[in-house]
Amino acid sequence: MADFIVPSTSRPETDAEHRLQGPIHAQRHVRVICIGAGASGLLLAYKLQRHFSNISLTVYEKNPEVSGTWWENRYPGCACDVPSHNYTWSFEPKLDWSAVYASSREIFQYFNAFARKYGLHNYVKVQHQVTGAYWNHQKGGYNVTIKDLKTGQEISHHCDVLVNASGILNNWRWPAIPGLDKYKGTLLHTANWDDNVNLNGRHVGLIGNGSSGIQVLPTIQPNVSKVTAFIREPTWVSPVQGLEQHVFSDQERLEFATKPGVLLEYRRNVERGLNGQFGIFLKGTNTNNETEAYMKSQMQERLHNPYLEERLIPNWHVGCRRLTPGVGYLEALGKENVEVVYGEITRITEKGCVCDNGNEYPVDVLICATGFDTSFKPRFPVVGPNGKNLQDVWKEEAQSYLGVAAAEFPNYLIFLGPNCPIGNGPVLSAIECQADYMLKLIDRFQTNNISQFSPKQEAIDDFIAHKDQFMQKTVWNDACRSWYKGRPDGPVTALWPGSTLHYIEAMMEVRLDDWEVKYNGNRFAWLGNGYSQTELDPTADWAFYVRDKDDDEPLSRGRKLQLVNRSGTMSRNVGVNFTGKRDTGESKAIAPKI
Ligand code: NAP
Repeated sequence: MADFIVPSTSRPETDAEHRLQGPIHAQRHVRVICIGAGASGLLLAYKLQRHFSNISLTVYEKNPEVSGTWWENRYPGCACDVPSHNYTWSFEPKLDWSAVYASSREIFQYFNAFARKYGLHNYVKVQHQVTGAYWNHQKGGYNVTIKDLKTGQEISHHCDVLVNASGILNNWRWPAIPGLDKYKGTLLHTANWDDNVNLNGRHVGLIGNGSSGIQVLPTIQPNVSKVTAFIREPTWVSPVQGLEQHVFSDQERLEFATKPGVLLEYRRNVERGLNGQFGIFLKGTNTNNETEAYMKSQMQERLHNPYLEERLIPNWHVGCRRLTPGVGYLEALGKENVEVVYGEITRITEKGCVCDNGNEYPVDVLICATGFDTSFKPRFPVVGPNGKNLQDVWKEEAQSYLGVAAAEFPNYLIFLGPNCPIGNGPVLSAIECQADYMLKLIDRFQTNNISQFSPKQEAIDDFIAHKDQFMQKTVWNDACRSWYKGRPDGPVTALWPGSTLHYIEAMMEVRLDDWEVKYNGNRFAWLGNGYSQTELDPTADWAFYVRDKDDDEPLSRGRKLQLVNRSGTMSRNVGVNFTGKRDTGESKAIAPKI
């Protein structure tokens, strides 16, 4: 399939000369390649299609289906711990979710249906894996190399703007334990599940107690003969975040579908609750202390086993590792057919795992719930104009500009890059605001005669210094092992220094002072032939600014924001913690009133 061209009335413009023949802000032709058709890639396609003309877009997806993580993660018990009605795009509710917490299959269906509804599959080439991106010194932009996974053929494709939407929780990782290749039983990774494996009646080994392991254990435990759970680090296991699991009745679904405003109010209420939890992540606040005391008592009650309590309840703060509601996990650890082995696995044999207590634990099936490579290094070379490869630049520490771009890699944008709010609050809203931010950059690129745009190194240095200072106040800075950072005492690379609402506000405008821009010839070529776009549009009102009252949108940031966030429509908002208690507000800055 060739590039799908977004229908356009304007003709492709490639250089400054051509622009002089057209009106101001002519929309020259822009070729975009997006890597990955998961949630982020699909959203980019949706928004480009909806808001732009004269763009060609190709989305390369390595899997045979769209939806990314929700296609890949199909392990038993896989679900999302965000309430389903809030695990949708803000503008695309789903009326008939089956339950408060939906399975990965149902979420896959949501994103697949979203893609079908808006014809997004037209842009996607499945089973095509990007293998490299190299700056094109003649044309600008990148030559992208791609492997067709069906035929094995390598192809090359040029773009002006490259968007990496390949996801941070995508490069799944085997545990670094010697002998893994010697194991003769059935070996599985949670993020690369083999649907043909039947676990019933078998003795299963389970490595890991992160979010995936916590979901797997209670799901498989009733059906297998035995589970040996290998755990090497304590972890906070939280109760469900504010809402109990509940299967929606036909009546409830009918109400959501037919009663105006009911679903919207439900979604907004849940989202307010999710956004109200940020105080938990700030050390030393009452919110954090109360949450910790509550979770500790909950864990003790549910484990009811001094040996496990001592090993599983952490001495670092709640939230240092990502919290997962462990529905049935702690209870499952105490079941008769579950054996907990605490400590390091020193090697793997043909039969199973040998641990640091010297014992060998043979198992029929070994499930590695061992997570992902979250170093943020791209999985393929990305080589910029100065010959540097982003894989090398980010080898020690990934330092991005606000989670979306890297210095010296012009025209390269990243969804959920380093230090964006992937675990600070609702993640899909963060993806939406990243997409909007990227489209503002692409819009300027298209209409302002720009050839290269990249964030300045000095802006990134300042951002990283601010982020590192901020992180000292957060629970993420504790010495726990977590995919939020490379090592327990290392800098936090995966999270944003603030709440999700804070990120949304920070990303509302492009701070042009932080961007390095190069032009195609004269920077004012975009002024064109002296005619405005309005004069070229026979249906536009050539006196649009003549009015009988001042109905301008607010010009100051503060007033604009009050309009966007519907200031004045709520009685006082307060944060909440996991105990259900209200945040005292001590962690919030009180803004001065003008
Ligand atoms: P993870 O949180 O990184 O957990 C990996 C687990 O494997 C840890 O317990 C780790 O132990 C263990 N491990 C790794 N190497 C090991 C080794 N050599 N020996 C023994 N144990 C080893 O990965 P995950 O559970 O797949 O979750 C990753 C993220 O995916 C989550 O934090 C979340 O953001 C997302 N997720 C979300 C949901 C959801 O409900 N929304 C569900 C699943 C996943 P150590 O901690 O000791 O290193």
